[in-house]
Amino acid sequence: MPSKPLRGLHETLRTLQKETAVEVHERVDLSSWSSLRLGGMADLLIRCNSEDAVATVLAITRRMGVSYFVLGAGTNVVFPDAGLRLPVLTLGGALASWEIDLDGVVAGASANLTQVCRAVARAGLSGMEGLFGIPGSIGGAVVMNAGAYGVEVFDILEWVEVVPPGGRPVVIPASAIEHGYRTSELRQREDVVTRARFSLAPGELSAILARVREVNLQRRAKLPSKPSAGSIFRNPPGEHAGRLLDEAGCKGMRVGGAHVSRTHANVITVDRGATAADVMELARIMRGRVKDRFGVVLEPEVLFLDEMGGRVHLDDARA
Ligand SMILES: Cc1cc2nc3c(=O)[nH]c(=O)nc-3n(C[C@H](O)[C@H](O)[C@H](O)COP(=O)(O)OP(=O)(O)OC[C@H]3O[C@@H](n4cnc5c(N)ncnc54)[C@H](O)[C@@H]3O)c2cc1C
Repeated sequence: MPSKPLRGLHETLRTLQKETAVEVHERVDLSSWSSLRLGGMADLLIRCNSEDAVATVLAITRRMGVSYFVLGAGTNVVFPDAGLRLPVLTLGGALASWEIDLDGVVAGASANLTQVCRAVARAGLSGMEGLFGIPGSIGGAVVMNAGAYGVEVFDILEWVEVVPPGGRPVVIPASAIEHGYRTSELRQREDVVTRARFSLAPGELSAILARVREVNLQRRAKLPSKPSAGSIFRNPPGEHAGRLLDEAGCKGMRVGGAHVSRTHANVITVDRGATAADVMELARIMRGRVKDRFGVVLEPEVLFLDEMGGRVHLDDARA
């Protein structure tokens, strides 16, 4: 049974549904919203199909004192088995499209990153080839500063449109946003990313498409085909987490239905019946092994969530 503030929020949003681009859903199975296919039920899922809808919802949540979790495509999160008691905010509709111009692309936050990469490559624009195949949305890629094969989002990001809680959409130049390896300050804020512009360079079509094919082949060869959340841990400075985990003997380790991939020691894959607790416990053991062997404490790249949308630290996970 959703909490009282959530019931109030649901009622308020339901009356708005007809006039605004907002959809509200109760009791949503989070496992279908995560690449790991894990997680319990979310009490409330709110889908905003335009930036105005985001602004409307954030004005209401702020007035009611309700916090929320912003979800992209769920490729970098582990939802708890107990589900989420705070509303999950997702984007779609007008925010799933993109527009290509002479030297770049403006993409909605819920657009699929790989589809955008493919479209700009076919338009003869270079700069996003290395990002091809990274699962997830444009919004998630910006917030995480996703990257691969020598390029990361902030190398080509020109600006981001965000909706702050209780405010209207604003455009922030990328140069004003602190960011680092697989992170940005947007991750700490309650702002919702709604759009982003990437600066690209016109190039030779055949060379761009060849690079996309090459990246795609390398990615397919490296990653397991079973459900996963990609790399569990960040690379420590000057090191590869995968190498440390491999040498610490983690490949093939298992807890319940979760196991470390045999092709990539930094990836946990799951079988049917696995739980988020299995994944967390396995990650905790992997981290312990690397610490014992090399004295290096690995930091998770994946976001482990608790029922209230807070970040679970592996030290707090069940022993
Ligand atoms: C098989 C596999 C391979 C992967 N390979 C790579 C790789 O090569 N390189 C790499 O960098 N990553 C990789 N990842 C991780 C993941 O794909 C990226 O981090 C991706 O950018 C996350 O996007 P998402 O839309 O799924 O975000 P989510 O997982 O939904 O969310 C990630 C974070 O972003 C926040 N967020 C999402 N959307 C918004 C928004 N619109 N506004 C505000 N906050 C938002 C969430 O609150 C959360 O904190 C891989 C994952 C998988 C499963």
